Amino acid sequence: MNNKLNRYARHIKLDNIGASGQEKLLNSKVLVVGAGGLGSPILMYLASCGVGIIGIVDFDVVDETNLQRQIIHSEDFLDMAKVKSAQHTINNLNSNVVVNTYRTRLNESNIAQLFQEYDLIVDGCDNFTTRYLVNKYAVKLNKILVGGALNQFDGQVFTITKDSPCYSCIFPHQPSADSSESCERIGILGTTAGVVGLMQAMEVIKIILGIGENLIGKIQIIDTLNNTHKIFKTNKDKNCKVCS
Ligand SMILES: [Zn+2]
Repeated sequence: MNNKLNRYARHIKLDNIGASGQEKLLNSKVLVVGAGGLGSPILMYLASCGVGIIGIVDFDVVDETNLQRQIIHSEDFLDMAKVKSAQHTINNLNSNVVVNTYRTRLNESNIAQLFQEYDLIVDGCDNFTTRYLVNKYAVKLNKILVGGALNQFDGQVFTITKDSPCYSCIFPHQPSADSSESCERIGILGTTAGVVGLMQAMEVIKIILGIGENLIGKIQIIDTLNNTHKIFKTNKDKNCKVCS
């Protein structure tokens, strides 16, 4: 810790973080699903803040159309696997962070083993199939899940624990795979992805530190075009097929 006192001096100065809070961040293990628009700010800030072990799951390679929002990637890494490009950026930013990369698509046969290695899961994926799968296994394995989603200028952030309503309680009907809200189809402003991803990173850090208000049992709806942030309480569905 001594050699890290300087690096994290501005955290340690904060009354509700201090050296013990920084130690909690350094000892935490977070898995980020998706190294895209949400994953980029999530990964960069979790790394800069000193989360000790970060896992990254993504199957894709870096494409030129990603660069207006996926700030963890750069022109030098076009066509490289996103997990490797992200790892490279994180290593340059904070070489103390251990980065584990998983170039794969999550599915029923690989997800449980992966989730078991981490304390907390952050979902930055861009499709409903993965989002529902991540929710199901976070509940099943009793992992805290900080979820997020994007839609043009809007976003949502929510946190799920084994006792809170889950994503399927909030949105019981999974849209079909072809109705995915893909950025390719509907567009997304780069800075909107940044704002929403950072709200997820903020939520992760507060949960690790046990400070402030969190979004457990709530959903935050962020409209970056009209500058509104609304938080709604969510309700547990007693017939939910995932968490009941
Ligand atoms: Zn549920």
